[in-house]
Amino acid sequence: MTMQRTISKTVRVVGIGLHSGHKVTATLRPAPAGTGLVFTRTDLDPKVVFHCSADAVRDTQLCTALVNADGVRISTVEHLSAALFALGIDNLYIDVDAPEIPVMDGSAYPFIYQITQAGVKELAAPKHFIRVLKPVKVQDGDKWAMLEPCASGLQMSLTIDFSHPAIVASGQHIDITFSGDLFRDEISKARTFCFLKDVEFMHAHNLALGGSLDNAVVLDDYTVANEEGLRYSNEFVKHKLLDAIGDLYMANRTILGRFSAYKTGHHLNNMLLRELLAHQECWEPAEFVEDRSQRKSPLRFLAPLGIAGV
Ligand SMILES: [Zn+2]
Repeated sequence: MTMQRTISKTVRVVGIGLHSGHKVTATLRPAPAGTGLVFTRTDLDPKVVFHCSADAVRDTQLCTALVNADGVRISTVEHLSAALFALGIDNLYIDVDAPEIPVMDGSAYPFIYQITQAGVKELAAPKHFIRVLKPVKVQDGDKWAMLEPCASGLQMSLTIDFSHPAIVASGQHIDITFSGDLFRDEISKARTFCFLKDVEFMHAHNLALGGSLDNAVVLDDYTVANEEGLRYSNEFVKHKLLDAIGDLYMANRTILGRFSAYKTGHHLNNMLLRELLAHQECWEPAEFVEDRSQRKSPLRFLAPLGIAGV
């Protein structure tokens, strides 16, 4: 049986905000079954609450942001949501004292690490999946992203197309069958990347003030500027995959199907999710309950301390 999950105890994640450069604290608290992912801006009076959904994602220029009708936002949610996807966490209160989740090292791994240390708890309710039944595709110029049915689990295939020599040399295509272990070991440490000339432009315009070599792979005209080099030989395409996982989890339901994309980003990933959800003939809800006639859990999520693998 695949059950919903939350965390065992409160986790405090402290880091720098990518946009502001200021210290930010995100407090993750256990939530009961059926709650979903609930983000709260605790620095505002009254507090502003966001229920995670595909429609709540409004601004995707630099990152995935939740924005309400009044323009209140919480930015940089996608690396945390990718970590929650891999941990199989469906229900969580995420309180943040700033307009953004801390960027940490620019990857999803710090969230995986801290949540795994605290422990993950199963809840007495079956987990909700979405099984893709018919292909759905979105396009923006030469960029595209699609979801199709597949025999089992979540298959992902993604291609980027940069002309920078370091990215070309690293490989621009990846093809995986998702599992929590694979995500933690092979994907979650991939950092966001940017170009030095863009960093200079953004800082001059008061954007990404917290962005630095501590939370991004920075590329100058020829090579990687970070002294330590890359964490994976193909870290760039792996980060784009990490982003796609986080973006697709904004519906708070785990997609079963085959995802493929060319030059995709946050905007296109969100368009794809909305397109899927808007076409009810293209998907069906699925649960995997304790019944021998039913299929076993279609995905292997991470099995943190104190919980058996599924
Ligand atoms: Zn990212």
